[in-house]
Amino acid sequence: MSVKLAKKTGFCFGVKRAVRMAEEALSGKRPIYSLGSIIHNRQVVEGLSKKGLKVIKDINNIKKGVLVISSHGLSPRKQSSIARRGIDIIDTTCPFVLNAQRIAKRLSSEGYTVVIVGDGRHPEVKALVDFAARNVYVVKDRTEARSLKLGRNDKVSIISQTTQSKGNFSDVVKTLAEKGPKELRVFNTICEDAESRQAAAKELSAQMELMIVIGGRNSANTKRLLEVCSGVAKAAHLIETEGEVDEDWIRPGMSIGITSGASTPDWMVKRVVKRINSKFRKQKSKKS
Ligand code: SF4
Repeated sequence: MSVKLAKKTGFCFGVKRAVRMAEEALSGKRPIYSLGSIIHNRQVVEGLSKKGLKVIKDINNIKKGVLVISSHGLSPRKQSSIARRGIDIIDTTCPFVLNAQRIAKRLSSEGYTVVIVGDGRHPEVKALVDFAARNVYVVKDRTEARSLKLGRNDKVSIISQTTQSKGNFSDVVKTLAEKGPKELRVFNTICEDAESRQAAAKELSAQMELMIVIGGRNSANTKRLLEVCSGVAKAAHLIETEGEVDEDWIRPGMSIGITSGASTPDWMVKRVVKRINSKFRKQKSKKS
C-alpha cells in the first residue's frame, strides 16, 4: 500500500492571509461579521465562528462593528453601501482576485466587452461582474461561449475566474476568437496556486489507482481538482473530512494519491492520511 500527497496541498497564500487577518480581527473587542463564508471550508469557518465571527447573509444585518470581506472579494456597490453606514471594513480579498478586479474595471471603462470565464454563481465572479459594471458576460465553457452574441465591430476582452483550468480558459478564448471580433484582448487571470495545484494533482493521478480530493463541496478550486483527477486516475472521490473515507474504496496493496483544495487546512489533510492508514491496518488484520 502507498499513500502519497500531491506536491501542493493545504492552504494557498490567499487563504492563509485571509484566515490570519480574520483571526487578528477576532482578537479585538468589536463584533466581527463576514458576508457569507470568508473561505469555502466549513470546518475552518466553524472554527472562526467559535472565536466570535458572525456569518451573515445580508449586510443590513450589521448595525455596528467590522465586516471582513472574504478572499473572493465583494462588489464595489456593496462596499460603498457598507462604508456609508459607518461600518469598518477589513478587506481580505486575495491579491490575485484584486488584480482580476482591476483589469475588469479598466477594460470596461476603455469600452471593451468583458467576458469572464467562470461560474456566475460564485462570489468572486459576482464581484467581478460588478467591477466591470457594463457590457459584461459570464461564460462557463466553450458551449456557452459559442452562443454568445458578439458584433463584428465589438472590442472584446477575456479574463478568468482565478480558479479556472487553463484548458477550459483556452477553449473559450479559441471559440471567441473564431467569431472574429474587431479586437480581442486576453488576460490570463488564473492564479499561480490554482494552476500549479491542478498540475501537481494531474501528475499524481497518473501514478495512482485512487485519488482523494479533500475540500469544501462549495469550493470552486476543489471541484476543479476533482475534475482534473477524475479525468486521469482510475477513481477519484471528493471528501470534506476524514469521516467520509469509505473502506470499500480501499484494497490492500493499492496506491492512493491525496490532494486538497486551496482552502483545506493541513490538519485536515493529516487527519485523512491517518484515517486511510488505519483503514488499511484494519483490513490487514482482518485478513491475517
Ligand atoms: S486560490 Fe489563488 S486566487 Fe484563490 S485565494 Fe488562493 S491564491 Fe488567491
